[in-house]
Amino acid sequence: MANRKRGSKAAPAAMPARRSPTPRGVDKSQASKSKASKESTARKRNTEGSARVARTAVRSVSPLAEVVNLDPIAHVRALIRDIPDFPQPGILFKDITPLLADPKGFHIVLDALAHRFTGEHVDAVVGIESRGFIFGAALAARLNTSFVPVRKPGKLPYRTDKVAYSLEYGEAELEMHRDSLKEDASVLVVDDLLATGGTAAAAAELVHRQGAYVAAFAFIIELDDLAGRDRLLPHPVVSVLHY
Ligand code: AMP
Repeated sequence: MANRKRGSKAAPAAMPARRSPTPRGVDKSQASKSKASKESTARKRNTEGSARVARTAVRSVSPLAEVVNLDPIAHVRALIRDIPDFPQPGILFKDITPLLADPKGFHIVLDALAHRFTGEHVDAVVGIESRGFIFGAALAARLNTSFVPVRKPGKLPYRTDKVAYSLEYGEAELEMHRDSLKEDASVLVVDDLLATGGTAAAAAELVHRQGAYVAAFAFIIELDDLAGRDRLLPHPVVSVLHY
């Protein structure tokens, strides 16, 4: 930032002096003397500006360090808020809204997942309602692939498949439009958090019912103690943060 400020001061001096007609009544030799003096001041300022920029560059450890957060995972981790006893006693809820409110943090998690799957064969990203929509849809756009929503019962307007499953805190059902995946499509299932794995396994069941297959599961957060990834074997599971 400081560099840019200095640079912008020096920039006008580096530009060629504007040619303007000598005003009437002004001695031509006087005008050319003042033009020469302006050019010399400009040259001097330009040289001083370049020297300042060069000194700053030598002082910096790495120019990259000035623009990139060098500990991106720590940055994201600091944006996950713990809410005890929500939505019921005994559950430590991982609130991702501070992460969504932080553009840098949101980019970091999407970049991490996009980097992991770019170049792999993914026909569709399946996002699980509702927080899986936020990350899944953005990731699908980055991977240049389709996005397919898996929703809670009664939300999808067309013909659906339905699967019942158990949560860390209760029972639930999920639905998917019947025509949303092509046979043999390679699918990435995305949600915000992996706990027991019941939700993700139910989404995988919906994918399989359409003759498609799960290439991998991707999460922002994984609660390691609940061993959800064991339930999703043999599929690869990728999580940005582990708790
Ligand atoms: P599970 O089916 O047990 O893996 O639970 C995962 C689903 O429930 C995800 O859609 C999460 O959004 C939600 N969930 C489960 N536990 C938590 C938690 N501790 N904090 C936030 N969301 C959770």
